[in-house]
Amino acid sequence: MADCIFCQIINGDIPSVTIYEDDQVKAFLDISQGTPGHTLLVPKKHVRDIFEYDDQLAQDVFRHVPLIARAIKASNPAIQGLNIVNNNGEVAYQSVFHSHIHFVPRYTDHDDFAMTFKDNSDKYTNADLQQIADNIKAHLED
Ligand code: 5GP
Ligand code: ZN
Repeated sequence: MADCIFCQIINGDIPSVTIYEDDQVKAFLDISQGTPGHTLLVPKKHVRDIFEYDDQLAQDVFRHVPLIARAIKASNPAIQGLNIVNNNGEVAYQSVFHSHIHFVPRYTDHDDFAMTFKDNSDKYTNADLQQIADNIKAHLED
């Protein structure tokens, strides 16, 4: 897609620092370097978000996740952990609309990455949870 920054990176029209590349995917350093080693894994096929993946694309992309994760971890003994994040939709902090997976190495609990969500467990009964689950299950498709 001509006006997509990640397609331009994949095509070599915009420079990037590559970690891994094959026919299906490319992994390169995120320009923001939220923490040192912050990496993005993208499908070479332009898809907007996770909702556009079929099974084959999911295999092609997600099978690389452990490979990239292990390499990042092994690259620096100071890395204590790794957040793997995939934002879908503007409300979910997606800003580049070519699907991508973030790998954010974690060095300390006060480095430059944070992820929070409220614990609302006191607001849900088991029946509420079952109803939510039943509704989601009704929409599962192969
Ligand atoms: P999102 O907010 O969509 O989940 O993440 C998009 C990411 O793309 C951001 O972390 C941002 O730093 C990164 N990014 C945006 N433009 C470029 C670029 O031109 N080159 C690289 N390497 N990363 C980029
Ligand atoms: Zn694209």
